[in-house]
Amino acid sequence: MANHEIRDITIIGAGPTGLFALFYAGMRGASAQIIEALPEPGGQLTALYPEKFIFDVAGFPKVLAKDLVHALREQAAQFGEPVHCGQQVVALEEDDGVFTLVTATDRFPTRALIIAAGIGAFSPRRLPQACAEPWYGRGIHDTVLDPKAFAGRQVVIIGGGDTAFDWAHQLEGVAKAITLVHRSDRFRAHQATVDAVMAAATAGRVAMRTFHELADVVAEDGRLVALDLRDIKQKTVRRVAADDVLPMLGFVSDMGALLAWGLTLEKNEIVVNQTMETGRPGVWAAGDVNTYPGKLKLIATGFAEAATAVNQAVHWVYPEKKVNPGHSSNLAVFGQKDD
Ligand SMILES: Cc1cc2nc3c(=O)[nH]c(=O)nc-3n(C[C@H](O)[C@H](O)[C@H](O)COP(=O)(O)OP(=O)(O)OC[C@H]3O[C@@H](n4cnc5c(N)ncnc54)[C@H](O)[C@@H]3O)c2cc1C
Repeated sequence: MANHEIRDITIIGAGPTGLFALFYAGMRGASAQIIEALPEPGGQLTALYPEKFIFDVAGFPKVLAKDLVHALREQAAQFGEPVHCGQQVVALEEDDGVFTLVTATDRFPTRALIIAAGIGAFSPRRLPQACAEPWYGRGIHDTVLDPKAFAGRQVVIIGGGDTAFDWAHQLEGVAKAITLVHRSDRFRAHQATVDAVMAAATAGRVAMRTFHELADVVAEDGRLVALDLRDIKQKTVRRVAADDVLPMLGFVSDMGALLAWGLTLEKNEIVVNQTMETGRPGVWAAGDVNTYPGKLKLIATGFAEAATAVNQAVHWVYPEKKVNPGHSSNLAVFGQKDD
C-alpha cells in the first residue's frame, strides 16, 4: 500500500464540483487533493457527454463539456494540488481526528473530507456476451484515451449513444475502416453527430450495422481478427474484419462504499444542511451526490456548493481562518492587494 502525505482537504470525485473545490481549497491556502475512480477527470462531462454543448454555465454562452473540464483543470492546476485518477475510494477510516481514504492500492490521510462523488464511481458497461470477456484488453477496449492508437486499424464500435457516435466521428480518417453496430435504428446521441456519421456512411466511409449484435469473437493465432455479427431481424450472421472492438455501451455507477459511512441518506443521496455538512464532523458533501429541499442537480449549483463546503472545511481545519473567503479580486494569492 502506498501511503500519501496528509492533506488538509481531500475531495472524492473529479467532476466539475470536485475540480472547482480543488481550486477553491488552493485559493484558501489549504493543501488538497482529489481521488477519482476514472482514468480522466471531468465526471459525467468526460464520461457521458464530452462533445455536447452546455448552455447554462454562467459566463459561457455555450461551452463544450470537454472544454469546460479543460478550463476547470487549468484553474485548479494554479495551486499544483494533485488529482489522483484511477483510484476508487473503497473505505473510510477515522483515527484521532484524522481520516484515511483507502483505495485498492493507496491510503490518503486527510484532516477534512468533501464528498463530490456525483452519481457514484463509474465503470464502462461491459458487453453482455460471455465470448467477449476474455478479449478485454486484448482487442476489446472499453475506454479510448488516444484516438491515434487506432491509426490504420479496422475498428468495430458497438453502441448507439453519444460515445459510440462521437468515436465513430472522431476516428473517421484515422482508422482504416469503421463499422458501427447497434441493436436498433434508434440512437441516443446528439443529432449533429448522428447526421455526420450517417453522411459518412452514405459516402461509404463508415459501415452501419443496425439491428445487429455480437454473436462471436473470431481469433487466429491467439489474436482477435473478426467479429461474427447476428442480424436480429433476418436471423443471419455476417463476419466483419476487426483489429479493435470498442464497446461504447454507457457506464454503470456504484455508490458502493460511500453508503456505509454512517451518513444520512435519502434515495442514495447524502442529506446536507445549508453549509453542506453531512452530520458527520469533518465531512461535507457537494454536487449531485447531496440532497436538501430545493436541490437542483446542475453544474452551477455544484460550483456554489463546492465553495460553501471548502470554506467550511478550511475553518474546521484552521479555526483562526474565517469562513468568509473575501473577494478573489482582492486576494494576495492572485497578486492582488488584500483588503
Ligand atoms: C447527458 C447529460 C447532459 C447534461 N447537461 C447538463 C447541462 O447542460 N447543464 C448542467 O448544469 N448540467 C448538466 N448535466 C448534469 C451535470 O453533468 C451534473 O450535474 C454534474 O456532472 C455533477 O457534477 P459532480 O462533480 O457533482 O458529479 P459527477 O460529474 O458525477 O462527478 C463525480 C465523480 O466522482 C467520482 N467518484 C464517485 N465515487 C467515487 C469513489 N468511490 N472513488 C473515487 N471517485 C469516485 C466519479 O467517478 C465521477 O468522476 C448533464 C448530465 C448528463 C448526463
